Amino acid sequence: MEANKPGGILFVLSAPSGTGKTTVANLVLEVVDGLRKTVSHTTRKMRDGEESGVDYHFVDEARFRSMIDAGEFVEWAQIFGNYYGTSSREIELSLGRGQDLLLVIDVQGAASVRAMDWAQSCSIFLLPPGMDELERRLVGRGLDSPENIRIRLEAARGELSHQGEFDHKVINDQLSRAVEEVENIIQAERHRRRGQ
Ligand code: ADP
Ligand code: 5GP
Repeated sequence: MEANKPGGILFVLSAPSGTGKTTVANLVLEVVDGLRKTVSHTTRKMRDGEESGVDYHFVDEARFRSMIDAGEFVEWAQIFGNYYGTSSREIELSLGRGQDLLLVIDVQGAASVRAMDWAQSCSIFLLPPGMDELERRLVGRGLDSPENIRIRLEAARGELSHQGEFDHKVINDQLSRAVEEVENIIQAERHRRRGQ
């Protein structure tokens, strides 16, 4: 898409793993009209309760690599051993139609999207209240081994140092308050850019 073409706004929500971005994003999608989450491609295994085409497009590594080679991703990253990527086609079609999108991606991916200098984008960094609480959430989520949790906490320290590069910061302490804050940012951006 041309940088200045009028269209939808690309909202990017990012945070270290375990902060609560999936939880916050799902609640934001319930309360904000006209906002759609993009469905990423990933090579990681489907978890219980996930649906193909809804949570992710689940593909094998060969397919993912062929998509990289064909230039089909706006950004992609290897995160904790699996590949994740956002397809350009999905984003361009939606934004071109004036559809606002919510991209829920890791901190590396958010940096790639920012580097593209999309005119109509807005980045939000979600912060954990502290490292102890982040560890509690990772343990409480019950998806990762102690070794994986250690790796995620280590990565989080580096990722937190990038928070200043985002347009907005929101602390995910009390969930309802964090959701409301993200909602307010989205509505304010819409108003500012489109008088909506
Ligand atoms: P992420 O998508 O950033 O990796 P998740 O949305 O999976 O994080 O959340 C990680 C864990 O933290 C989940 O078990 C979730 O229920 C919990 N969680 C999310 N937000 C909060 C919050 N504000 N307070 C307490 N626990 C939370
Ligand atoms: P999970 O495996 O827990 O669903 O996601 C792991 C991490 O990958 C999360 O931080 C999530 O936001 C991120 N992620 C999901 N989709 C994408 C994507 O398309 N690109 C990038 N860069 N990260 C993604």
